[in-house]
Amino acid sequence: MARFENLSLRPSSLSQVVGQDLIVNALAKGLAQDNIPPAFLFYGIRGVGKTTLARILACSFACTNPVNGEACGTCRSCKIFKTGSHLDVLELDAASRTGVDDVREIISACQYTPVIGRNKVFIIDEIHMLSKSAFNALLKTLEEPPTHVKFIFATTEVNKVPDTVMSRCLAYNLRPLPLSVLSKHLMSIAEKDVFMLSQDASELIADEAGGSVRDALSLLKQAVLLSRNVTAEVVTSIVGSANPRDIKNLLKLITDGKVYDASICVKGMLSEGADAVSVYKQLQKELYSQIIETVSKNDKGVLTRLLYLWQILLKQSENINSATYPDCVLGAVVIMLAHAADFPDIRAIINNTNLNKSVIDDVLTQFPKSIVIPVE
Ligand SMILES: [Zn+2]
Repeated sequence: MARFENLSLRPSSLSQVVGQDLIVNALAKGLAQDNIPPAFLFYGIRGVGKTTLARILACSFACTNPVNGEACGTCRSCKIFKTGSHLDVLELDAASRTGVDDVREIISACQYTPVIGRNKVFIIDEIHMLSKSAFNALLKTLEEPPTHVKFIFATTEVNKVPDTVMSRCLAYNLRPLPLSVLSKHLMSIAEKDVFMLSQDASELIADEAGGSVRDALSLLKQAVLLSRNVTAEVVTSIVGSANPRDIKNLLKLITDGKVYDASICVKGMLSEGADAVSVYKQLQKELYSQIIETVSKNDKGVLTRLLYLWQILLKQSENINSATYPDCVLGAVVIMLAHAADFPDIRAIINNTNLNKSVIDDVLTQFPKSIVIPVE
């Protein structure tokens, strides 16, 4: 029988929240000092902990016996909060309830003192979806909120939240989790829930999730359902991405100019179930990492060549996205790249001939632009 206890668990205290250390520390400090503003706003991409933090705060604000400002977990308010039917904590999804009447309902509820908890708490998710009149109605209450009322807003599109509302909130930007943090988190879940997860597989999931914990956990669940020994191959079969180790190897073959080997390497990835468009994106990312690494080493010769490969990849990316046969486009581009990596630098050769500039320019026009490496 599979055990997914930790895989399915949403953090219920600040100390369990992963990857948002600065924000968690600031919130813990504010709670401990009872320095609580009337409104909070959490913003960032999906699955980085906005709703989780909103619920942790809501439970703490409602708790009648807080410990260092945080929910005690045992009082009546905390127990009822866990059931999801706390009369003083109201959650509104602005994506489905955008109108002024929905907000008026909240405003009129603000007048009453809490029934079970210490405060009344209103969580409004995707607040950017509220209509203009709804925002205006909310603003009046935000300007002079009753002391027993707290607002917690969350949004994925902070640029759509009016400045007037923003300025009334303590706003926190929840950033996507770094790959290493997310991967480590997945490894710790595997350990607790007793299933195997290889380092490659956890990195592949973290990378695919783009820093979103929710997306990463969802992928991990799918993988564990397929096999309790989650390898990079298992993840590849779900997401279509190739093993990061194979991508590194492919780029090495390309930059070494090994056209045939690079071509075979791509063929192998595709036959193992990797998706051509995903591989293309992974290759772009890997090349970018290598460019950044080369910049730090200040190796101008290598950098020029890598940037040249980057230009080719960028130029062809539209083609792969719209291709009827993306596998063929990927294969052809890899051959093109490996060939290009091996081209002599025509400009450098001609420059060494001591010809004057107009003659050099004239000679260069005789070559297709794609094989003249751009000037540094
Ligand atoms: Zn409590």
